[in-house]
Amino acid sequence: MTDARNPQPQTERIHRAIGDDNVCVLTFDRPASSANIFDRATLEELGGHLDFIELSPQLKGVVFISAKRAIFIAGLDLRALEKNVSISQVRGLVELGQNLFNRIAALKIPTVAAIHGAAAGGGCELALACDYRVASDDRATKIGLPETRLGLLPAWGGSTRLPRRIGLPAALDIILGGKTVVPQKARRLGLVDEVVPVEYLGAAAAKKIRRGKRPPPNHWAANNPLSGWMMALRVRSQLLKKTRGHYPAVLKALDVAVKGASTAIPASLALERDAILELAQTEASRNLIRVFFLQERARKRAEPAEAAPIARAAVIGAGVMGAGIAQWLGAHGLQVILRDINVEQVGRGMAGIAAIYREGVKRHLFTPREARDGMDRIFPAPEESPLRRAGIVIEAAVENMDLKRKIFERLDALAGEDTILATNTSALPISELATATRRPERVVGLHFFNPVHRMQLVEIVAAPSTAPEVVQRSANFARRIGKLPVIVKDSPGFLVNRVLMPWLIEAANLFEAGANLQNLDEAMLDFGMPMGPMRLVDEVGVDVALLVARTLAGRFSDRLNVPAVLVKMNDAKMLGRKNGRGFYLHGKSREPRPNPETAAFVRDRKAAAIPTLELQERMVFLMVNEAARCVEEKIAAEPADVDFAMIMGAGFAPFRGGPLRFADSLGPEKIAGAMQNLVDCGNPHFAPCDLLKSLAAAAKKFYSD
Ligand code: NAD
Repeated sequence: MTDARNPQPQTERIHRAIGDDNVCVLTFDRPASSANIFDRATLEELGGHLDFIELSPQLKGVVFISAKRAIFIAGLDLRALEKNVSISQVRGLVELGQNLFNRIAALKIPTVAAIHGAAAGGGCELALACDYRVASDDRATKIGLPETRLGLLPAWGGSTRLPRRIGLPAALDIILGGKTVVPQKARRLGLVDEVVPVEYLGAAAAKKIRRGKRPPPNHWAANNPLSGWMMALRVRSQLLKKTRGHYPAVLKALDVAVKGASTAIPASLALERDAILELAQTEASRNLIRVFFLQERARKRAEPAEAAPIARAAVIGAGVMGAGIAQWLGAHGLQVILRDINVEQVGRGMAGIAAIYREGVKRHLFTPREARDGMDRIFPAPEESPLRRAGIVIEAAVENMDLKRKIFERLDALAGEDTILATNTSALPISELATATRRPERVVGLHFFNPVHRMQLVEIVAAPSTAPEVVQRSANFARRIGKLPVIVKDSPGFLVNRVLMPWLIEAANLFEAGANLQNLDEAMLDFGMPMGPMRLVDEVGVDVALLVARTLAGRFSDRLNVPAVLVKMNDAKMLGRKNGRGFYLHGKSREPRPNPETAAFVRDRKAAAIPTLELQERMVFLMVNEAARCVEEKIAAEPADVDFAMIMGAGFAPFRGGPLRFADSLGPEKIAGAMQNLVDCGNPHFAPCDLLKSLAAAAKKFYSD
């Protein structure tokens, strides 16, 4: 018995209740957590309940449900796969889950998963083992199998049961894309049987139980080996093209799902198991799981929640970034003043915001009502207005120090004493901007990435003058609006642009020296970057790339230069995608093709014969070196922050774990040696930094694990 004055801590993760109708309801409710996950203890507890159910002939059905606000079951506890886990432990876990879900599928009484919140990975696989799935129409409800994003595949029956339930083509779309789908889409696909308001979830589940046991699914498109093989051939070549072989999980998942669809369930489950055991040992999977944990770490708040979180904000500048930031803040419940110099500019910003909402509604990210409310929270301000009540002001006007200083002088007069004065500058020194105010301690960088509604990273840039409390509040603010902050020191280009620019500058120099445009891009796509450097410059804008190159080369002239090709292209108004002409010609409907006009900017043919591997090494090693410098200069607190920021902010090949993790996998001594060779051949900008040299000399690594 529990003592009311001294209650026992809750230990069970799944509560069992049996109603008058003899339906057994298993409610997942992990103690002291907002999420349900499958760790070994939860799986064993589930096993205990199944023992009871199998031995209770009076039961008429089983309903699986969650007590959490936004999560049904989030899947496997990934800590089970963290470092030093043995392969026999992984095998044990896979077999335990498969066995339990097989037992659910084999029950003689009807079973229903009543899904409210995320049913991802193992949560979805449990649901697939049931006769019926009903889902709430809530925005938190999402169902799917994200395992391939972690370099794994669904191995608790997901790769086997999903194709049987919804057909191979739709199942491959979810499994290979690592997707979760919204309830309406799940209903259309046949992944769930009914979508109801959350209040009716229990009633809908009870109705399904009354309908009785259902024959196992047998989708026509899952059981046709010939069409399965043809599809596999086509999808395989698409996957190879897209992933360049760097993501073995998708290829394995394709094999297993296709072969499994035309074999018996036990044989298909064995395929799943063997495949995941192989994948769990790959470097790619280890790195992708690390990235997952880095995201979790950034999401978690280290310090207690604030008593009065910021509810009002102002954004100065309604251009691409200002409009994007205002939209994001409004969508997260903040009242936002959006200021620009005149009605036209503010109007353009508001139109941009409306377009983001339109796309969001189309993609079921917002209901029309949420979109309307979000728009209503933004107050267009073509004239100066008082900003006393704003908890934070984010300046996103054009990248010009004099202009920004003037804006900050005005902010000093207009904002309240406690208002955080933030700037979204890409590369201008925060410390210099701060001196335009009487309160440099409240000035901080909040560097959002473009497009704001897609990029999760925000660099929180602390100048020496910024108060630690302002840095912390800014990081909390970023978390509260669903972004992932990384705290960095004020230095040219901060962290992401600083590490990225040496790569882009080297690529432009190589181009001038005769390296082929497409070879440069292909070399880096082969390495695993989402985009080659020349395409990236076009996307960012040649003018913007030139501006950042100037800022960084001005400060680090020992190793960075401003490539003449960028100056010439900027002068010739070849600005990249924004005006259709850059290194490539961009059209609305076709793939960009090399722009023949750029031939005029090639200086000589010195680099024409450099083999792809050396092109790759030159570009990648410069990023590694700059990343190492950022650790050396404590621009970020630790190597993991640098890797995390480069993956989230610049798309650095996630399966490689970031530039420093990549350096460790190759060995700092190998990189330092190759760089020294390049120096010896007359390329002084390849000089390895002190940290890289000392790690190389001591045969050490950036990470100790
Ligand atoms: P943009 O040219 O699209 O927008 C700038 C806006 O600022 C314009 O609407 C302009 O009218 C307005 N403006 C100019 N003077 C103003 C003033 N005195 N008061 C209020 N508004 C004023 O530029 P953008 O791409 O949105 O960039 C804005 C800032 O964000 C820059 O500092 C840039 O370096 C930074 N940034 C840009 C990107 C990107 O990819 N575009 C990414 C990260 C950071």
